[in-house]
Amino acid sequence: MQICLVGAGGGIGQQLAKTLAVRHKVAAVYRRPPAGVPKSVHAVQFDDKIGLTEAVGAAEVVVHAALNTKARGRQFIPANQATTEQLLALISPERCKLFVYFSSQVVYAALDPKEHPVQSEDADLAGTKRLDAYTRLKLTEEARVIAACRDKGINYLIVRPTMVMGPGMAWSSGIVDAMRMAPIGLKNRTINLIHVADLAGQLLALIERGVANEVVNLGDLDVRSDDYFRHAAGLAQRPILLAPDWLGKFGGRFIPSTLWFLGHDVQVSSDKVKALSGVETGRTLADFFEPPARVVDARSLDDIRDTVRSGKPYHAIGRGYFLWFNDRKQTDQLVMEHYSGVIGLADNALTVKAGTTLRAMLGHLVPRGMTFATLPEFVDISAGACFFAEVHGSSAEHISMYDLITSIRYVDETGEEKVSLRDDALWDRLRGEGGIVVTEVTFACRPSRLLANTIEWQKESRLEDYVAGEYRVNFSTTVHWYPRSHELMVYNVNPVDGPEPGDRRPFPPMRGSPHWIQKLLLNLRMRGRQRIVGSSERVLAPWTGVPAKHFLGKFFRETRRRVRNMEVCVPDTHAADFIAKLRRHLPEMQLMPGQGIGVRFTRDPASDRGFVWVEMTSRDASQMHAMVEMARAACGEQFWLHRGKYVPNGIDVEHLYIPRHVSPK
Ligand SMILES: Cc1cc2nc3c(=O)[nH]c(=O)nc-3n(C[C@H](O)[C@H](O)[C@H](O)COP(=O)(O)OP(=O)(O)OC[C@H]3O[C@@H](n4cnc5c(N)ncnc54)[C@H](O)[C@@H]3O)c2cc1C
Repeated sequence: MQICLVGAGGGIGQQLAKTLAVRHKVAAVYRRPPAGVPKSVHAVQFDDKIGLTEAVGAAEVVVHAALNTKARGRQFIPANQATTEQLLALISPERCKLFVYFSSQVVYAALDPKEHPVQSEDADLAGTKRLDAYTRLKLTEEARVIAACRDKGINYLIVRPTMVMGPGMAWSSGIVDAMRMAPIGLKNRTINLIHVADLAGQLLALIERGVANEVVNLGDLDVRSDDYFRHAAGLAQRPILLAPDWLGKFGGRFIPSTLWFLGHDVQVSSDKVKALSGVETGRTLADFFEPPARVVDARSLDDIRDTVRSGKPYHAIGRGYFLWFNDRKQTDQLVMEHYSGVIGLADNALTVKAGTTLRAMLGHLVPRGMTFATLPEFVDISAGACFFAEVHGSSAEHISMYDLITSIRYVDETGEEKVSLRDDALWDRLRGEGGIVVTEVTFACRPSRLLANTIEWQKESRLEDYVAGEYRVNFSTTVHWYPRSHELMVYNVNPVDGPEPGDRRPFPPMRGSPHWIQKLLLNLRMRGRQRIVGSSERVLAPWTGVPAKHFLGKFFRETRRRVRNMEVCVPDTHAADFIAKLRRHLPEMQLMPGQGIGVRFTRDPASDRGFVWVEMTSRDASQMHAMVEMARAACGEQFWLHRGKYVPNGIDVEHLYIPRHVSPK
């Protein structure tokens, strides 16, 4: 069957896209396609009139699960009605056999709870109660869809999900988070739960069984609100406080109609969907919630093995910085930061446990006159992360720290620890498939040397020259681009034999500060001098840590509009096109005055490949998604994202590491 799913980006829509696409051809319509659209669907943008007309016109079944929540206040109802009208205008009986409209159980708020303690699909909803905008929208839209479909001679199906549960959803993960702050609940109400995976299964069955011209609740298990809130509080490890009956009754009057089921003890029937779809889930209350994730502090190999062998999904973290920029993971967390320490330095190779930071490694190497051939501008990064993420600065000789790794030890899926000498083909696979915990890493080191950084301020128009290849004149070129000030600050870093009179020693560069502060500080610090000269690990004065890491981390992870840092990497052969696209898009990106964009360059001499890394920080995730789309438009699938920074949902793992197993040129 050919199905057009409108509203594929929402919590329900994402699951519907997956479930429907298993057996059917699905065109998924997004208001703004996410960076990673499932491969099994054909993505269409709602504003693309031609694309939308084709997708809806070709579909035998159109599922309308879109809700425009961006339109607020008075705009909410008309904006959503306009979406429905647009879709109804596009369907025709020659092709479309069924129009499915996602309504909601909220329509039962129109009923008198005393007269209708059990609320089922055949109730007459012509109530006159005070209803909120969402409830009114759903009531009028149901009637409108039925009338329009009858007019056109097209079958309809109105579905009313009850309380939708599932990973990351408001009534499951969200309520557990809320319980951590305020563990308060209501007694003596009945709540009908439906897991989002079962909801999609029910709808699929209804469509495949040819159910038509029906209104059907999509629901599953009735639970008492006391049990529901107590369970959520238990997962949050907080004692529950259930409001006394009198308070529940009093407060019930002020509850908006969308939450009417908390205001009165009513039951929404799910008998009809069970009979029509034949889907029986057998779930109990606990199955609607994610099991609580454990945090395991790896102190020994046995801790790591036990976690791997537990059979439960888990993720390993080094210092955990990637979580600053990404959504919390619901699986068990294996913390590697205390699995650390230098194991030994032999034959210019340093072996450390995976939780050891670059800072600690340099602390061991520098007194011995040794260092690394390339380094990032931040050294509170774990050795284990260097295997998975492309931890880089700018370098003409290496893509990232990963290229310095000569061997690793890792615990595989069975819990066995293995040794692996560098093997690009195998390691590409390990980095892609994951499922291992790196326990030890050996890095090639080199004798320390002096580097000089000549800092220049250039006109913004010079950016294209650097991207076109001028970056290769230096051992390391880093560009800080200030689009609103139309200027570039360029680091030209090269080896030198020794300091010259007038050279400046390295100093904290205040990277990331706004343009004018950066310029002022540099002028004050440099006082007319040309170069900063220092040992290779000091010349850029990398940050050694983050002050008040715990609080700053909380700020990054938990503020409402999160600050995200993302780095896109494109082959230098396609970088000019990418930068041109970025330039065109910049006016819409609303950069702050003085805000900079980092541009770094790395190379792999063996395969003669060059890479341009473009780094941006923003509170607006859609800007980041736009950058991913620009990279895709410029380079096809040949682009990568820094794995230790923001990675939008749905990005395939091939975009998170640069394969090294390529034929040399
Ligand atoms: C202030 C700041 C400055 C930064 N500057 C730079 C820079 O100059 N250059 C640069 O390249 N990056 C930079 N970064 C990004 C940094 O490289 C990443 O955030 C990196 O992931 C941090 O290392 P980590 O030890 O916290 O690893 P994590 O963020 O904890 O992990 C990174 C990835 O590796 C996996 N992983 C880690 N350890 C293991 C293990 N032992 N076994 C299996 N999987 C593991 C994790 O699952 C995750 O996928 C910066 C970040 C910050 C916060």
